[in-house]
Amino acid sequence: MTNHLVKNIRFFAGQIGFGLIRMFCPKKFPYGVIIGLHRVCDLDDKRLLGNEGLKITPSTLEDFIISSKKMGYHFTSLDEFYKIHTQHIKAKKVLCMTLDDAYKDNLDVALPIFRKHNIPFCIFVAPGLIDDPEYCWWYRLEDIIQQNDVVQYDGKSYLCKSREEKENVFWTIRNQIAVLNMTDLRTELKDKIDLYSTRYSHCAKDIFMSWEQVKEISQDPLCTIGAHTYHHVAFAGCNNEELKNELAMCQSSLQEHLGQEAKYFAYPYGDKLCVKDEHREWMHHQGYKAVFLAEGGGIHCNTDMLQAPRFCIYNDNGAKNIMRSLNRTMLRPIK
Ligand SMILES: [Zn+2]
Repeated sequence: MTNHLVKNIRFFAGQIGFGLIRMFCPKKFPYGVIIGLHRVCDLDDKRLLGNEGLKITPSTLEDFIISSKKMGYHFTSLDEFYKIHTQHIKAKKVLCMTLDDAYKDNLDVALPIFRKHNIPFCIFVAPGLIDDPEYCWWYRLEDIIQQNDVVQYDGKSYLCKSREEKENVFWTIRNQIAVLNMTDLRTELKDKIDLYSTRYSHCAKDIFMSWEQVKEISQDPLCTIGAHTYHHVAFAGCNNEELKNELAMCQSSLQEHLGQEAKYFAYPYGDKLCVKDEHREWMHHQGYKAVFLAEGGGIHCNTDMLQAPRFCIYNDNGAKNIMRSLNRTMLRPIK
């Protein structure tokens, strides 16, 4: 027998095994999943995967919604999800859509799809990205790497001639910037990289919604607005006082522009590199109903909603692959 066949037999035996355990011990398995998205638009194969990976195409999103419904999943708002969780309401196969950063395509492309299929969603807004889209350093970094064969960062030269080198250099520098203190990113980066040269200033233009557009989408009954810090900061780069200030600035900006404060929060970046155990603990005391990471898996009845996992979906060769990993996530028992 080939290795591939043995692997497949093992996988299906495992799925049947977990399926049986699930029937008898449903509490050991997720009842739902919080889906994480960023951009909904067509892919551009000239751009680097580091940022293109933030996209899901409109057709993949729509296929995913249709397939999920066919397979018995149902979509709820964050409020309904929270109610199911805290009131221990019997539920299975619950999904909730969340989108980070308030990209403009969320309004132009995703909203019509959500309306067509009646899908509630939450947008986690970092007001600093709306007030000054230049804070969106990850697109500026991509442009510098795309336009140069060598990039300097923090006194070190990175060769980025080939496509592969460009992809690698993006991640190498991205992971260093992602843990810096971003409350004043321009000063922080001043001696490290020429990220704010005017040569790269076109990239963030029109990428995020304006406040008028955030207001417009927030008034849709399907929409919930969540908080995402003011400057889209990495928790790992800030002290508690700075973080407190970030949360307060975010809420007062949402209040000023939208007339509401957020009950839900998602960590910017949201991975282990940028969010440490002490941050998870600290966020238990900041007054949110639920706090979301950008990784993990499904939600089960014992999940702590103040450090809740999300299942982030990427274009990933289409909705079929996404469904496969979603179903796998639902069959992953609590350790
Ligand atoms: Zn974000």
